[in-house]
Amino acid sequence: MAETKILVNLERCVGCWSCAMACKIGNGLADDAWWVTVRTLGSGEGIDRPAGTYPNLSMGWLPVWSESCVFCAGRTRDGKQPYCVYNCPTEALVFGEEAAAAEIAQLRAAGFRVFELPVWENQKPGITYASRK
Ligand code: SF4
Ligand code: SF4
Repeated sequence: MAETKILVNLERCVGCWSCAMACKIGNGLADDAWWVTVRTLGSGEGIDRPAGTYPNLSMGWLPVWSESCVFCAGRTRDGKQPYCVYNCPTEALVFGEEAAAAEIAQLRAAGFRVFELPVWENQKPGITYASRK
């Protein structure tokens, strides 16, 4: 597993796209450029519809970082959080190897599964996920 730069607690992600928008605005990306995007998982018949039938509904989200992400080098060298991490309203994202390692240890102890996306996803190396499922 590559050194974790950003840890994503999927139990906290609500699919709001604030991370993606903060990156786009903070880094001045073109309209069609996204360095982090958010997939909807487990949706039913259409996008953004939950799977299952009431009351047994389920929905999840997966933020994915592109190879273009530069981990906000200009901000983090001054001790600031990356735009995506700083603007996540649910504190689903943890930045930095030490902070992520400490959080991973706690989450593992609480029964979380810790994993990376498969290489064929071409995700930026250094992103680690934690999930109860
Ligand atoms: S990681 Fe945070 S900011 Fe990004 S979609 Fe999930 S909850 Fe929203
Ligand atoms: S770390 Fe910075 S460059 Fe990378 S996705 Fe987050 S906001 Fe964008």
